Amino acid sequence: MRKGTPAQEEYRKQMKAKAGTLLCPFDDCENHTQTGPDNIIFIRKYGKGATQNLFKCMKCKRTFSERRGTALFGCGLPEDKISEITRCLGEGNSIRGTARIVRVSKSTVCSIVKRLGSHAEKVTECHMQNYHMEECQLDELWGLVFKKKRI
Ligand SMILES: [Zn+2]
Repeated sequence: MRKGTPAQEEYRKQMKAKAGTLLCPFDDCENHTQTGPDNIIFIRKYGKGATQNLFKCMKCKRTFSERRGTALFGCGLPEDKISEITRCLGEGNSIRGTARIVRVSKSTVCSIVKRLGSHAEKVTECHMQNYHMEECQLDELWGLVFKKKRI
């Protein structure tokens, strides 16, 4: 394999460790239900500004984004921006205030709120079927999303 800079090598190592914890997202694949050290491999970063990671399943040979099936699939924002946005909102800032602090547009913040909202709905639905304690945390997130929608 081609050697990169030390930073690239370090990133590769991190992604390799991460790959070992991932499942294949395609439900017709054996690796969909079991993780293994060589089931999934890291391919490369991709997307605008290379903000997302591309993985490949060694069983079915299909590639997928680590954000597939998450609230962030297809979202071009880097992870640190997204976590800044959610942190700002979580601390009680308005959408406008968050946009100003994080230096993104108001519509970007709105789109993150919408993504998290519809994802929380799906997660809530899923958890209601297999009810357990974390439900109250989801309720809090939901409450926050509702409140923000009204502002
Ligand atoms: Zn697969």
